[in-house]
Parts: sequence; C-alpha cells; structure tokens
Amino acid sequence: MMNQNSVQQVFPVFLVIWALLGGSGAAFFFFNRNAALKRKVLPFFVVLAGLLFLGFIFYTDASTESLYLAVPMVTLITFLNIRTIRFCDACGRTERSQSPFSLPKFCSKCGAAMKQ
Ligand SMILES: [Zn+2]
Repeated sequence: MMNQNSVQQVFPVFLVIWALLGGSGAAFFFFNRNAALKRKVLPFFVVLAGLLFLGFIFYTDASTESLYLAVPMVTLITFLNIRTIRFCDACGRTERSQSPFSLPKFCSKCGAAMKQ
C-alpha cells in the first residue's frame, strides 16, 4: 500500500502516459485507412491499455481485494473492445458497435458489408 504522497506523484505520470496512449491510439484508428493493419494493432493496443490501468491500480493500491475486482473488469473491457471494434475493408473506417451482441453489418461511411 502506498502513502498519499506517492500516489500524488504517480498519478500525473499515469495521466500523461494514458493521454499519450489514448491520443495516439485514437488518432491512429481514426486517420489510418489500412483495415488489415488496424485489425492487427487493435489487440495489442487494447491489452496494453488494460495492463497500464492494472499497473496503476497495483502501484497505488495493491490490496488483494481491488485486484480481484480490477482484473476481471479490465479483462471484460478488453474483450468487449476487441469484439465491438470493427474495420471496414472497403474504406478503412473504424466502426464501434454500441452492443457486443449486435455488431455493425454495414459500414456507416461507404455502406460496404462488414466482416463479422
Ligand atoms: Zn466503409
């Protein structure tokens, strides 16, 4: 368990790393039009973000209870992210489904059929 001071020291560092990762990831998935490349990068990116989050929880509050709660939660979010984000092969657009049970069938930009 960390004292309040070290949490306050680590938090800004975590926020900066988080913002850089999130910003570069969002820019990459928004601007890049290579669906095959994005499909390869997505799992690494989502898992990296999950590990970073878990690392932060572990570092700031390494109680067993919070990790028991955080690990399944992050695993679920990671799984849902990989499952609900789809890429259009025709135009390369990143599509994000609102529900893991109804994946987008057609690209909202060009109307091409999406891979399920
Ligand atoms: Zn498209």
